[in-house]
Amino acid sequence: MTILLEDTTGTGYDATAPTVNWATAWLSERKELFIGGTWRKPAGEEYSSSTNPATGKLLGHFAEASKIDVDSAVSAARSAFSSESWRTMSRRKRAELLRQIATVVRRHHAELATLECLDNGKLYREAFNDDIPEVWEVFEYYAGWIDKYYSENCPVDAGFLNYTKREPLGVCGLIVPWNFPLLLAAWKIAPALAMGNSVVVKPSPFTPFSILRFMEIVQNEVDLPAGVINLVTGGAETGKLLTEHPDVDKISFTGSTATGKRVVHGSADSNLKTISLELGGKSPNIVFEDAPDLAFAIQRSFDAMFSHKGEKCSEPTRFFLHKSIYDQFLAELSSRAEATICGDPFDSRSTQGAQCNEQQLNKILYYIEKGKKDRLKLVAGGHRDVSGDNEQGFFVRPTIFADVDNRLPIAQEEIFGPVLVVTPFSDEDEVVKMANETTYGLAAGVWTANLSRAHRMADKLDAGMIFINKYGCYDFASPFGGFKQSGWGKEMAVHSLDSYTRLKSVWLKID
Ligand code: NAD
Repeated sequence: MTILLEDTTGTGYDATAPTVNWATAWLSERKELFIGGTWRKPAGEEYSSSTNPATGKLLGHFAEASKIDVDSAVSAARSAFSSESWRTMSRRKRAELLRQIATVVRRHHAELATLECLDNGKLYREAFNDDIPEVWEVFEYYAGWIDKYYSENCPVDAGFLNYTKREPLGVCGLIVPWNFPLLLAAWKIAPALAMGNSVVVKPSPFTPFSILRFMEIVQNEVDLPAGVINLVTGGAETGKLLTEHPDVDKISFTGSTATGKRVVHGSADSNLKTISLELGGKSPNIVFEDAPDLAFAIQRSFDAMFSHKGEKCSEPTRFFLHKSIYDQFLAELSSRAEATICGDPFDSRSTQGAQCNEQQLNKILYYIEKGKKDRLKLVAGGHRDVSGDNEQGFFVRPTIFADVDNRLPIAQEEIFGPVLVVTPFSDEDEVVKMANETTYGLAAGVWTANLSRAHRMADKLDAGMIFINKYGCYDFASPFGGFKQSGWGKEMAVHSLDSYTRLKSVWLKID
């Protein structure tokens, strides 16, 4: 394995051969469940394994949590939630614990980035510069909120005082996917703990290791009361057990729309627990003829689509280009796609890593083959990358189909990989209709120098996040989440705090 990376974040941590050697040794021991502050073997003594997508080789083993284990984890979370040590902990102390978690993540930056890279297949550069810094930042961000989250004094009729209280929900099940494994767990753990809940986290069976390591370092280096964070690894069955558990108060779920619907059923059929859903997308990116800086629009659109090898929920997978700039834009996209170097995620020369797992690889290849069979115009990629040492890895060339009818399945169904469809348009009404013609509504991009048009488009586009003249802007201070079948509710900012609390109205009669 070649490791050529330099530290670009200034934290002083770097991917060095010793870190990868450390990870290899760490991964050689099978991982247990973290319940009630201790590591436990799974009751059924069952273990699963995960693969390094860049090599196709076995990476490590982790426990499969059964019903007994999920029950134990929920019960440990319940005890922690009700315990004096957590329930009455001062806000200042709780904030301090979140800050300690942030510090510990920062201390183990390279280790966590290395595990993310080995397990997910993303470039080390992406894990190191994007994923892991955001993990510690989100803990810092919500630590800051803890003593600044106020309730209301409501303006009711004279003779009464009416005020609201924000109370923690209780035990929260946090179910996350494999594309940003530790980061998306942190997006949920930080606000849930900030509001005084306890949690049971369930990562994806494709990428359990960064969160397992996170749990170890938090256990070793932070004085968190036992049972406040529990970790159960496993697949769909483990997630289902958590979703249907009668003593879980909330499920915060990030994953596919199909699984999100199962989570809703699981809640309805058990205790009607509260649910937040961050689901799939098929987001449009609309470039008008007057885009203020076409060169920037091309580069940014390409990066937004293909970074993290196209495994991002909010990526723009449908480009709508005004016909006057269509040929030039498409040619530039295609030359960037052809120049992409798929390869060893630790090698700084690689510009695209490996798809996360074989199932995902096959799904992507299915859509590519379907596109070819349907005689769509293929302008870049269209196959696996088996060059050099890539043969056993799950690499796919960035693929672009042009002149695509927006109603085709390839333009309607989420592929979750480096497959882009491009469609020309002539006027605003036509493009709004096509952009909104989808069951999803996560994000949408608009490129125009015309301010009135920018605002008109922001009004008309049916998506939870609108990016004008720069696709893919994120900030903890801004709500994240989609409309329609892209989800329910918002994460980030105060919205996450609202979603991990219940609102109580208190009336007092004043004589
Ligand atoms: P997935 O739905 O297959 O799995 C997500 C998680 O749910 C995993 O931990 C999985 O084990 C668990 N799970 C599976 N079946 C379950 C069930 N019946 N009950 C409870 N849990 C169950 O999704 P994935 O393939 O891991 O991730 C890719 C999907 O996630 C894409 O659709 C992507 O758009 C979406 N995603 C959305 C966002 C967002 O913020 N909107 C962010 C990242 C990913």
